Amino acid sequence: MKKLLFVYNPHAGKGLLKPKVSDIIDIFVKAGYDVTAYPTQSYQDAYRKVTEYTDPYDLVVCSGGDGTIDEVVTGMMGREKKIPIGYIPTGTTNDFANSLKIPRDILRAADNAVNGAQFPCDIGQFNEDIFVYIAAFGLFTDVSYQTNQTAKNLLGHLAYVLEGTKRIFNIPSYRIKVTHDGETIEDEFIFGMVTNSRSVGGFRNMVGKNVAFDDGVFEVTLIKMPKNPIELQEIITALLLEQTDSKHMYSFKSGHLTFESLEEIPWTLDGEFGGDHDFVEIYNLKQALNIMVPKKHVEELSVSGKKEKNK
Ligand SMILES: [Mg+2]
Repeated sequence: MKKLLFVYNPHAGKGLLKPKVSDIIDIFVKAGYDVTAYPTQSYQDAYRKVTEYTDPYDLVVCSGGDGTIDEVVTGMMGREKKIPIGYIPTGTTNDFANSLKIPRDILRAADNAVNGAQFPCDIGQFNEDIFVYIAAFGLFTDVSYQTNQTAKNLLGHLAYVLEGTKRIFNIPSYRIKVTHDGETIEDEFIFGMVTNSRSVGGFRNMVGKNVAFDDGVFEVTLIKMPKNPIELQEIITALLLEQTDSKHMYSFKSGHLTFESLEEIPWTLDGEFGGDHDFVEIYNLKQALNIMVPKKHVEELSVSGKKEKNK
């Protein structure tokens, strides 16, 4: 019999998951799995469980928010034998799940986790750490962002904070040397993100339209420090209109880049604190992990599907 490990955060998503756990396990059993269910007990417990298990599982299904999928993927990436991951999202934003077309309905997501298709998804290496869909630095990476769920709307929060800024020299900025694909950018930045997602904080258009999850490259967006109130207003407008503004932003794709700075900069990985760093090296680990997605959407997530369409 196939073996499935179900790791879930019973407190995620306002307790919506808890009353459905029995139905979820029933879906797994009907799909032919012997199920081990594990409710996480604390922060980093999902990571620990996936890192330490010794049973020969065929599939790991996790349920929770961004933090849970980040922990499970990070744990799996550290294992020698990587097995597919199914995801039942119950968090508040779920950019990654939406991008991968994973159903929002809990039971449909459970069905997708066992009956969907394996999609070889790119994963991010961030120094010694792993991220699934976003690594970012800048204004929002303060304490309030880390504790306040509503602030998970990254770019909306960014626009909000900028609008509340009376004087531009109050905006924290970082002098960074960014190196990618034989190019070097040295500038003063207020925000930067490296993403594998079609939306960030619910914003769909900022990261560009031609996003593929298996093409070996991330979308990179860097916002420059405004030099005067007019530039500040232009940045806010671009954020609110969800447009990249080449005058104030760098926007490119890359599979390998570094960030060097004199001071240590706080980063966030998948919405969780990712540490303070004066050197960051990011690699796109191409097609490193199989994630269960709806069969009918495999092609549109893939770079090969895009090539077909462009013919
Ligand atoms: Mg990509």
